Amino acid sequence: MKLNEDNYYSQEANKAYFSVSQYKDFCKCEAMAMAKIRGEYEQPVTKSMLIGTLVDRWFEGTLDKLRVESPNIFFCRNGALRADFRKASQIIERIKQDYRFMQYMSGEKQRILTFEMFGAPWKMKMDSFSEKICITDLKVVWNFKSLAFWRYDLQGAVYREGCYLNGYGYLPFYLAAVTKENVPNFDIFQIENQILDAALNEIAVKMPRFIEVKAGLREPECCGVCDYCKSIKKARLRFYSELLED
Ligand SMILES: [Zn+2]
Repeated sequence: MKLNEDNYYSQEANKAYFSVSQYKDFCKCEAMAMAKIRGEYEQPVTKSMLIGTLVDRWFEGTLDKLRVESPNIFFCRNGALRADFRKASQIIERIKQDYRFMQYMSGEKQRILTFEMFGAPWKMKMDSFSEKICITDLKVVWNFKSLAFWRYDLQGAVYREGCYLNGYGYLPFYLAAVTKENVPNFDIFQIENQILDAALNEIAVKMPRFIEVKAGLREPECCGVCDYCKSIKKARLRFYSELLED
């Protein structure tokens, strides 16, 4: 299956390829990951995620296209941005004045690559790709600490390896991060190679099982606590004292 911007996020593409977000789904809950692949479960989109989408689309230069695609989510009848999303324009106004931030985001936008890694086909899509120079991913987060919480080292590891396997060499991986704080903070974080190496090893260890689960050769495990697991659970009889344990 050949990927392009129209089918990249399709169910068919998610069946055919692993991606960083699918790998993370498998780590969280195999049952949820499989339900997503079968098209039976979708993660609800939050307002907070949509702020990131707006900033992404501005960088891509496709904000006008978004206005046509989903007029009611982001914009009022008069075409102005809804109040919920004014944070996005505040962020854009701020970062576009910053030379370094814009420079790191100035590569080719939304470049798609596919490759074989750890015995499975993978897909990836880069926010900004400067051939022979670097890979940069844009992150709109609550604060800088959340960068580590979301494990962007896993993304960096896959992207660095994906570029290498496509013949682009080992490129440095950067996060162009901007916060949703009252006054947005922003910086460029390089994820060091030894951190990416460790993340890639972690993926290598877990992939054999995930490949088998995805192929239907093993039963997916339910985590029991995620929204998907709650949506398919049956009531259990429990003891009140369980709630008194720390
Ligand atoms: Zn679960």
